[in-house]
Amino acid sequence: MPPTPPRATPSPPTTEPLAPALFPTSAYAASTPNEAARRARKPRVADFYTRLGNPTVQAFADAVAELEGAEAGLCSASGMGAVSTVVLGLCSQGDHIVTQRQLFSSTTQLFESVCPRFGIEVTFVDAGDTPGLVAAAAARPTKLLFVETPANPTLEVVDLDAVGASAAEVTAVDSTLAGPLVQRPIGAGIDLVVHSATKSLAGHNDATLGVLAGEKTLVNELWQYATIHGACASPYDSWNGLRGLKTLELRVERQCATAEAVAGWLATRPDVATVHYPFLACSPHHGVARRQMTAGGGTVSFVPRGGFDAAVSCVGSLDVALLAPSLGGPETLVNHPASMTHASLTPEQRAAAGLDDGLIRLSIGLEPLEAIIADLERGLSSAT
Ligand SMILES: *Cc1c(COP(=O)(O)O)cnc(C)c1O
Repeated sequence: MPPTPPRATPSPPTTEPLAPALFPTSAYAASTPNEAARRARKPRVADFYTRLGNPTVQAFADAVAELEGAEAGLCSASGMGAVSTVVLGLCSQGDHIVTQRQLFSSTTQLFESVCPRFGIEVTFVDAGDTPGLVAAAAARPTKLLFVETPANPTLEVVDLDAVGASAAEVTAVDSTLAGPLVQRPIGAGIDLVVHSATKSLAGHNDATLGVLAGEKTLVNELWQYATIHGACASPYDSWNGLRGLKTLELRVERQCATAEAVAGWLATRPDVATVHYPFLACSPHHGVARRQMTAGGGTVSFVPRGGFDAAVSCVGSLDVALLAPSLGGPETLVNHPASMTHASLTPEQRAAAGLDDGLIRLSIGLEPLEAIIADLERGLSSAT
């Protein structure tokens, strides 16, 4: 017999702990068969079996739902777990989805290659064309209108009020690049908001986590599907997520302020061809962005003059910005999609997604603005 370690019992604490409790348990023991049966039948049960629910995981989902002004939240093992739960939990054979051409790469793959296998038809419209998205959802019965704003990595902004008022049966927004302190899709009439909490919400590059939030009945329906899909969140990652939320406001404020300054600086450079940032006055999305966002977000994308080669040389010469495929954490990260996250696509496929081969995506961290600008100065001069 292996030794039995002492078990944590859920006795009420006599003093208030400052950190939330972590319950790594995968199952709970019931005291009677009746009690076990009651828990097995309870929707959103958090004290039966962790794939169905767990108190630490639920605490993170509840905290995000509150930030979003939503009735209920549901966690998943990653942002893609949340996106897949929305799409496959809602849509059946014969259903129609409208979405945008510019999306996070794995979300594009879900719509382009998984949905057709299940007989779900998807119409793609340019992200910058909100009236086109809304019209496509009105042209025929549409189960789901799914948008991502700002879009990763090209930072197009979709008008949330227009999406919220659309004829689609359900509307969903991937709000990862903005987050609940920058935009609140539920307030714009959107049914579901989705996040890769791996990014800014957990915020420390130490959790792989997704979350969705919306009306309780809809979230409960998705929970039913999610228990079968099986992409349930880890209690440990949810616990790191709860830790991350404590400093979300400070991090986001700092990152947005630095990002706006970096975008403004890049826009003055003769060796930079294009800068994408929603709060730049020269952005085609500036008006909508100022209306629905409190800040421009922590991500900036730009194209140096000289295309692919200049971009590779630039990202290879950066010291402060680390070459890594994520965003929203404390370290400034740089991604060159054409040679990194989107290298497996052909140049034609990248062009169809509106992705310039010279595009560089910067996720602004917590370093001083001067250090980031000096780094970019070094990178850009290496390319010329
Ligand atoms: C990263 C990301 C995702 C996927 O999240 P994972 O946690 O990596 O599964 C989805 N949407 C956007 C906008 C993202 O940036």
